[in-house]
Amino acid sequence: MASTVNKTTHTFDKSRLDALLNRRFFYAPAFEIYGGVAGLYDYGPAGSTLQANIIAEWRKHFIIEDGMLELDTTIMTPSAVFETSGHVARFADWMVKDVKTGDVLRADHLVKSVLEARLAGDKEARGQEAAPPTEDKKRKKKAAKVTVVKLEDAVVQQYETILAQLDNYGGPEIGELCRKYDIRNPDTDNEVGEPQQFNLMFQSSIGPTGQHKGFLRPETAQGHFLNFNRLLDYNNGRVPFASAQIGRSFRNEISPRAGLLRVREFTMAEIEHFVDPEDKSHTRFKEVRDVEIVALDRHTQEAGNSETRRITVGEAVDKGIIANETLGYFVARIYQFLVNIGIDPARLRFRQHMGNEMAHYATDCWDAEIQNTTGWTECVGCADRAAYDLSVHSAKTGTPLVVRQALKEPIVTEKEAAEWNKKALGKTFKQDAGTIQKIVEGLDETGLIKLKGELSQGSTTLKSEEGKEFTLTPEVLTIERKTLKQSIREFTPNVIEPSFGLGRILYCLLEHSFWAREQDVERGVLSLPPLVAPTKVLIVPLSAREEFDPIVAEITAKLRRAGVFSRIDDSNTSIGKRYARNDELGTPYGLTIDFASVQNRTVTIRERDTMDQRIGKIDDVIATVTELVFGNIDWAEACNRLPKYDGVQAVE
Ligand code: AMP
Repeated sequence: MASTVNKTTHTFDKSRLDALLNRRFFYAPAFEIYGGVAGLYDYGPAGSTLQANIIAEWRKHFIIEDGMLELDTTIMTPSAVFETSGHVARFADWMVKDVKTGDVLRADHLVKSVLEARLAGDKEARGQEAAPPTEDKKRKKKAAKVTVVKLEDAVVQQYETILAQLDNYGGPEIGELCRKYDIRNPDTDNEVGEPQQFNLMFQSSIGPTGQHKGFLRPETAQGHFLNFNRLLDYNNGRVPFASAQIGRSFRNEISPRAGLLRVREFTMAEIEHFVDPEDKSHTRFKEVRDVEIVALDRHTQEAGNSETRRITVGEAVDKGIIANETLGYFVARIYQFLVNIGIDPARLRFRQHMGNEMAHYATDCWDAEIQNTTGWTECVGCADRAAYDLSVHSAKTGTPLVVRQALKEPIVTEKEAAEWNKKALGKTFKQDAGTIQKIVEGLDETGLIKLKGELSQGSTTLKSEEGKEFTLTPEVLTIERKTLKQSIREFTPNVIEPSFGLGRILYCLLEHSFWAREQDVERGVLSLPPLVAPTKVLIVPLSAREEFDPIVAEITAKLRRAGVFSRIDDSNTSIGKRYARNDELGTPYGLTIDFASVQNRTVTIRERDTMDQRIGKIDDVIATVTELVFGNIDWAEACNRLPKYDGVQAVE
C-alpha cells in the first residue's frame, strides 16, 4: 500500500515559494547585477527545462494529436502589417497619471485594487474577517491600503458590480469611475488624470536609414495569417486545418508586476484553426463532449455576478453558450492539457468575454483562467476571430487569401447582366466611359431591371457621385437575362485561435505544486507531475567510494537508453539533505545506491511526495521507474511490484 500525504498542513506561503524559485534558479530578474528591468526575467536550468517539458507536451497534445502545421515566423515585423491588423491603432491599454507626481498607473488595475481594498475594509468592519489574512489579502493590502470602514450596502453592491464588469469598461468610463468614487493613487493619495491610451508594442526600425518602421510582434498570430496561401497549399487546398507556432512575443506593459504573470517579453504558443464559416463543426468534437468545465458566461457577468457553473462542453455548445463545436473542441482540449501538466482543476475556470471586452471582430471568446495568489489570471485566450485578419490583409495587399472549393453540384442562377458596346461607349463618352461602367457595375438586380425598362423606352440617365449626368441609349448598353453556372465556391475562412502564455501557466503550475512537509515548514516540495518535472530521477550514491562508480554508470546509462532524464547528486551532504534539495526541484523519484547495491545488485526507489521507499533488483527498479515516468503506472502499482524498504531488507 502506498502512503497518503497531507499537503495542506501549512497554509500556502508565496514568499517561501518565491524564495525557493529564486534560490534554485527557476527564474530570476534579467540584468540583475545592473539593477534589473521590470518585466524581464531569465529562466535558469530548472525553469528552462520545466518550460521545455511543458512545450514538449503542448506539441504532443495539440500539434501531433491534430496534425497541425507548425510555423516559426519572424519577430521583427514591418509597420504596415500592424497598421492593417489594427494593432497600431488599438493594441493599447488605458493609463492614468498621478496629477502631482506624474506616476503612471494602469487605469483598470487601479480601479480594481482600490475597490477591492475598500470592500476588504468593509468586510473587516462588519466582522466577517475572522480568519487570518491570506497571502492574497496581504498582497492587496499592500497594493492599495485597506482602511477598516463600513460601506453602505448599496455601495458594496455597486463596487461588486463594477468589479464583475471591469473588463467591459473603456477609458472614458474608467475616468468617470475615478471621479465618481474618488479613486486616487494609493501610493500618494493624489488624484489621477483622464485615462489615456498607451500602445503596448515596442517600436524599432529596420535597416540603416531609420526610415522603415518596425515593431516587435506582440503575438505570433500575424505570421500565420500572412503565410495563409502557403499553408493552404501545403494542406492541398483544403480547410479545416490549423497552424501552430511557439515563440517569443513582446508587450511594453504599463506596470509589469506579479513576477511571470505580467512581463514584457514572453513565450507564447498559438494555434490558428482555419475553418469554413458556414460549417464550424469539428470531426473530433464527440471525443470531448463529456469534458466538464467550470464556466463563467457573459450574461452572468453582464448582470454583475461572478457565479460559475459546471457544464460539459457538449451541453455548452448544444445550448449555444459556446458559439460552435470548433471553439468548444479547443476549450475542452485546453482543459485537458492544463490538467495533464498539473494545474489543479479546482482552480481552473473558463470565462467568456463580455460584449465590449471582445475585440470588435471576434464573435465569441473564452479565457482559461487559473486561480493563484493574485486572483484569477487569464492564461489561455480562445477566440473565434471570424474572417477579420485574412480579410484586412487581403484588402490591403490585393492578394486573395481565400479558399476555392469545387462544388459537388454547380449552382445555376439567372441574372441580369450588362452588355456594353465598348466602341460606341468610348466614342460617345470618352474619358467618362470608365465612370459610367462603374455606376452600372454598382447596381443590384433591382437597379438593373429598372435600367432595362428605361432602355426599352429609348434611353436612361445615370448620375455620377459628383452629380454629372449621362444619357445612355440601347446603342451603348443593353441589359440581358443570362444563365450563370458557378462550379467553384470561394470564401474567406474563419479563424479560431487558442493563444497560450507559457510563463503564466508555468508560474501557476508552480503555485499549485508547492507545499511544505508537516514536520518542517522549511522543507518546501514541488509536486510537479513526472511529465513536466525538470529531472525525472535523482541518483544518490550513499558514499563517494569507488566501488559505487560502475553501478552509478550502469544505472545512468540504462536510464538514458530508456529515455529517462536523470541527474546524480554525489555531494557530501547527508542523503536526507540531498533528497530535500531535489524535492524543491520537483524531482519525483530518487534511486539510492548503497552497499547492498554492490553486493546484491539492489537499489531503493523513493517517491517524492510520500517519501515511501521500495527496493528491488536494479533492472526491475529501472523498468518500474521508467513506467512511472512515462505515466503508464502510478506509485500504488509500483508498490505492488516492489517490496517496502525498511532500511535493512535485501532482495534475493
Ligand atoms: P492575449 O493576446 O492578450 O489574449 O494574450 C494571450 C495570452 O498571452 C494570455 O492568455 C496570457 O497567457 C499571455 N500574456 C499576455 N500578456 C502577457 C504578459 N504581459 N505577460 C505574460 N503573459 C502574457
